[in-house]
Amino acid sequence: MGVKTEELKVKGYERVVHRQCSSSGLNALIAIHSTALGPSCGGVRLLPYATHEEALQDVLRLARGMSYKSALAGIGFGGGKSVIVRDPAQKNKDLFHAMGEFVESLGGKYIAAKDMNISTEDLLRVRERTSHVLGIEGLPGSSGDPSPVTARGLFRALEATLEHLTGSHRMNGLRIALQGLGHVGFRLAEMAREAGAELIVTDIDKVAVEKAVKQLGAKAVAADAIYEVPCDIFSPCARGAVLNSETIPKLKCRAVVGAANNQLATEEDGFRLWNRGILYAPDFAVNAGGIINIFIEFENGTYDPKKALAKTDGIFTALKEIFERSKQSNRPAFLVADELAEERLSGGTR
Ligand code: NAD
Repeated sequence: MGVKTEELKVKGYERVVHRQCSSSGLNALIAIHSTALGPSCGGVRLLPYATHEEALQDVLRLARGMSYKSALAGIGFGGGKSVIVRDPAQKNKDLFHAMGEFVESLGGKYIAAKDMNISTEDLLRVRERTSHVLGIEGLPGSSGDPSPVTARGLFRALEATLEHLTGSHRMNGLRIALQGLGHVGFRLAEMAREAGAELIVTDIDKVAVEKAVKQLGAKAVAADAIYEVPCDIFSPCARGAVLNSETIPKLKCRAVVGAANNQLATEEDGFRLWNRGILYAPDFAVNAGGIINIFIEFENGTYDPKKALAKTDGIFTALKEIFERSKQSNRPAFLVADELAEERLSGGTR
């Protein structure tokens, strides 16, 4: 069959495995950062990485991020992730069967879910070779699309931020500059509008912008103008690395609270926000609704939306604890969030 599996030793990671299969063309890595709090869970990402090193660095970074996210969310998942090195235009059944066998070989220490360039059909193929797959949309008892739960978590994070800043989480008259009106962003816009907030929005999708203007009375601005909008909250809900040396000096907000992953381009940008006196709600604490949603399916054996929403409400308390510690220790919230997650991982407690 021509299957070559290699165990890589990486400091700080429980297991990192590389598998290549000549018949299916699979070239994939699975990284398990930690199982201290439970089996590791994270999406399968498919990208045409230019080099093995690039794929390795991505899977390591993402697996560690999943450990931290789950630890802060107080759920019984560890952190893991997998990447398949492949052109998204060249997916086929054999590839995902081989990936399923790879996941199975880890005996449930890594649970696969959806990520970039992976469709529900692809995940169903993986599931034909392993039971360690969660979050397949449309499957009875499965959690499926996490966006509504992620949006609820984001809304609760917004409330926690406001309470920290003003002593009240009322949104009447609050100005929110929202970047990205997709699955999460639009839902947040609806909830915030309902709560009395004023919305200034942008998206590269004109239809989504028109809908927000018509249905929610939002004011639309050009993509680059969103950073300069005078507002209380800037909410990045489109893509990563939007908080960087170019954008941070332009911001006219009191706090940043958004769903996008990896909003800080570098750690230095976390300090840039801190030095400007802008409160940053760490993204992996804010957007944990997605992984909480999957955990509810895992814990109960079947999905229960009420339990998922109730657990996601805990993001409010988690963020308040981070902000409080940040204030007391006079250190940025993004550093405090990392430390809190590390404490939980090393103590093995949720
Ligand atoms: P989505 O793809 O449905 O929406 C993203 C929106 O951003 C789209 O409408 C897109 O047109 C817009 N966009 C892209 N580039 C833009 C730009 N330069 N300027 C303005 N708008 C732009 O994604 P989503 O599910 O709503 O997720 C939003 C973000 O939150 C993503 O970064 C995602 O990784 C993260 N996230 C999502 C979930 C979830 O449950 N969906 C969970 C955790 C994190």
